[in-house]
Amino acid sequence: MKFADLHLHTFFSDGTFSPEELAGHGARLGFAAMALTDHDSVEGCARMAVACGAAGIEFIPGTELTAELGDTELHLLGFFLDTHNEKLLTEISKFQIVRQSRIHEMVAAINKLGVPLEAQTVFALANCKSPGRPHVARALVKAGLVKNLDEAFERFLKKGRPAWVPKAKMSALEGIELIHQAGGLAVMAHPGLNRTDEIIPALVDAGMDGIECFHTKHSTATSERYLEIADKYHLLVTGGSDCHGFSKNKPLIGTVKLPYEYVEKMKEKISHR
Ligand code: AMP
Ligand code: ZN
Ligand code: FE
Ligand code: FE
Repeated sequence: MKFADLHLHTFFSDGTFSPEELAGHGARLGFAAMALTDHDSVEGCARMAVACGAAGIEFIPGTELTAELGDTELHLLGFFLDTHNEKLLTEISKFQIVRQSRIHEMVAAINKLGVPLEAQTVFALANCKSPGRPHVARALVKAGLVKNLDEAFERFLKKGRPAWVPKAKMSALEGIELIHQAGGLAVMAHPGLNRTDEIIPALVDAGMDGIECFHTKHSTATSERYLEIADKYHLLVTGGSDCHGFSKNKPLIGTVKLPYEYVEKMKEKISHR
């Protein structure tokens, strides 16, 4: 059997692995295909393509966008993207700039609570164009201001906590169109985490291609539920670990093994465009 992992992050967004390290883990686990889906970034794809190529792994360039339909937030994965597509690069760079100003806002809110974190510390640690909450959390841990990442999220960064700052989102319809015009397939990420199934029909009408049925945080029952939904709406099925590096001493990569036949179905759809 051949397997794929189609949801992975590197240090080009909020992961901690380099593309080479990530490809190394993929090779160790025997993956036939891997997709890189950094938040609002395709910057790591060039290095990941080379590293996967050297390891004999098929590489799928991707990204993960934060979108909204009405008031409902969702994450959209784009796969098989042309990473040189001008409109894609222009749009994601806008979201990167908003992510950077959001770091300043989160740090200011943390400072207001008497915790002396500096934005520069977060930017130095993030060292990427697409910084996010995990970088703020890691900077808090590194500065000894909280014990661990969980404490950082619980005290400051989780939705509803004092330093939570909403993230700029693109409309889901624009996101799907953006991915399509860059040659890609648009897929709803980890629907089981958001539990907003009521928006799926509208996304299907907007041309969404698939749904991430398999994810580290999906139970077997949840995966089965979304396989049924995929079947009902004739959607492609994807899956991935959403690995961000080491978490609790081991990387998540390897926890989800998507049968390669699903990748073949994705390629078949792309070839008919
Ligand atoms: P952001 O895109 O800046 O809102 O950050 C979202 C990322 O933060 C997710 O992709 C997760 O990697 C991470 N994250 C979200 N909630 C938590 C949490 N409660 N604990 C640890 N990491 C989290
Ligand atoms: Zn992330
Ligand atoms: Fe996500
Ligand atoms: Fe992700």
